[in-house]
Amino acid sequence: MNYYSTNKNTPEVSLKEAVIKGLASDNGLFMPERIEKFDPSFFETIQNLTFQEIAFEVAKMFFGEDIPESKLKEIVFDTLEFDCPVVKVTGSIYSLELFHGPTLAFKDVGARFMARLLNYFLGEKKEQVNVLVATSGDTGSAVANGFLAVEGIHVYVLYPKGKVSKIQESQFTTLGQNITALEIDGTFDDCQRLVKSAFLDAELNEKLVLTSANSINVARFLPQAFYYFNAYARLKEQGILENKEFVVSVPSGNLGNITAGLFASEMGLPIKQFIAANNSNDVVFEYLETGNYIPRESVETIANAMDVGEPSNFVRILDLYNHSHKTVSEKIKGYRYSDSEIKKIVKKVYIETNYLCDPHGACGFESLNEFLSENQVGLFLETAHPAKFTETVEEIIGKGKVPLPSKLAEFMKGEKNSILLNKDFQGFKECLLESVTI
Ligand SMILES: *Cc1c(COP(=O)(O)O)cnc(C)c1O
Repeated sequence: MNYYSTNKNTPEVSLKEAVIKGLASDNGLFMPERIEKFDPSFFETIQNLTFQEIAFEVAKMFFGEDIPESKLKEIVFDTLEFDCPVVKVTGSIYSLELFHGPTLAFKDVGARFMARLLNYFLGEKKEQVNVLVATSGDTGSAVANGFLAVEGIHVYVLYPKGKVSKIQESQFTTLGQNITALEIDGTFDDCQRLVKSAFLDAELNEKLVLTSANSINVARFLPQAFYYFNAYARLKEQGILENKEFVVSVPSGNLGNITAGLFASEMGLPIKQFIAANNSNDVVFEYLETGNYIPRESVETIANAMDVGEPSNFVRILDLYNHSHKTVSEKIKGYRYSDSEIKKIVKKVYIETNYLCDPHGACGFESLNEFLSENQVGLFLETAHPAKFTETVEEIIGKGKVPLPSKLAEFMKGEKNSILLNKDFQGFKECLLESVTI
């Protein structure tokens, strides 16, 4: 299958090229030329399949033409070595726990899939591929761990100095090997700009093979559709969706996760309504309400993985719905929560249901609480484990109440190693070029 650019100013490319390039040469984002629909009968029996089997069926719809079936199956099954269970929180609200992977956030799914796909495409090629990834916290750890020790690939993680939690930082600054952490004196948006500038820099592209592992990469964002299908299957299995409409709320930052959900819906998955839950970085909320899209600098919040002022996947959503504000705002309802509201929600849910949300998931929960009507069932994506935000969460519910999972404790033991850079492109560029001359 070919991939076109949302800017439509450059020829279509193959999957391999889209994955290796990351961003299209006209600065647009790649989109698959077709979205295949499942036969409705698929959804009648989907509950008989396991998560891995469902994911394989979904993967074939996108990647089936470009990767031998047995290889694709291996990639999918290997990516999903962990489960993404659906857990009941209230009578009509369920949590899709996406934090059971190696770095305890949903980005493990896309990052692990992409690492394996890239490795397959690179095959015997000897040339080193440099993966650039900007992170507001969780992407860096998922990508770094997904790619750790993969031959032929070097990963540069760019993160905003002082704006990620200690635990998050430890997950990509302590690994060494083929992972370099670049600590940028700026915001997440500055990190993202540096990465984009690198892709557009002629000299860098001549000397280095660069690719992105942010959700702009199709190999990272499309696999995120897997768990929407599985969540539907697991709810259906228990008869929970009978005569009910299905509403899904996605704590959103760069909009990669919700875009994958929208793709799932275009493939026929019966989701009645999507909700994009924002923190105080509310450009999407504002667009949905007014039709005006005004990107701006991000502000810091306690749900830091959603601190995005210019969400990169927004253009994919516009492209998917022909730039119609009417269609987009029907498909997606917007909600937004300030830090003080998020704290109240985490506390309330914990006291009333004994379920501990992380600050991102809390936004998803509350939007459903506000939105749902009688005949609906809501699912929010619990995008990270609360222990990734121990300091914040314990401040809300009390010290010592968030046990540190052993996977996270291991990271904390390592020694931090990072290169401090300012937000100017030149310094970053020199840093990348140095790696060629060494
Ligand atoms: C990345 C992230 C988000 C935002 O996801 P997008 O795909 O960028 O919208 C939400 N919550 C957590 C915990 C994350 O790590």
